[in-house]
Amino acid sequence: MRYGMVIDTRRCVGCMDCVVACKTENNVPEGYCRDWITETTTGEFPTLRHEIRTERCNHCAHPPCVHCCPTGASHVHERGGVVLVTPEECIGCKACLAACPYDARFVHPDGYASKCTFCIHRVEQGLEPACVSVCPTRCMHFGDLDDPQSEVSRLLAANRAHSLLPEAGTQPSIYYIN
Ligand code: SF4
Ligand code: SF4
Repeated sequence: MRYGMVIDTRRCVGCMDCVVACKTENNVPEGYCRDWITETTTGEFPTLRHEIRTERCNHCAHPPCVHCCPTGASHVHERGGVVLVTPEECIGCKACLAACPYDARFVHPDGYASKCTFCIHRVEQGLEPACVSVCPTRCMHFGDLDDPQSEVSRLLAANRAHSLLPEAGTQPSIYYIN
């Protein structure tokens, strides 16, 4: 099993409901975010493409943040390959912050590295991640990328999608349809 997300950027309006839901669900301290909105414009006039993306930790299949961690605080969860941090084992060295090509981590004011957890505490109860559950346009989809019958797998099979910085070799678990 490999948990992942497929996000349809054609439906995202950048409302930031996902950002607010994450901060509330995960008690993210003021001034920090576990997810955020990015807007990019590509192409040349008059054939420009504008993409609004909700971004977060990509829960990479080859996570440099885990490989560099000196204490084992950063680790891959047994369920779905979710990348997590054990706060009690983190010494706040910031090696993982430097290793992540997506700038997905921050140091919590209490001194440990923090980031998106795919709301694994909700997923283990059969719920969707908070950000997915509140999206008013339903542009985010969460599920098992290894299951060919899952919604995320079917969306990937039926649409053109890309991940972020594939050249980094991290094998992100989040894909964007555009
Ligand atoms: S996005 Fe960054 S923090 Fe998340 S698993 Fe990949 S390298 Fe680690
Ligand atoms: S800040 Fe914490 S989780 Fe990150 S590499 Fe250092 S000990 Fe590991």
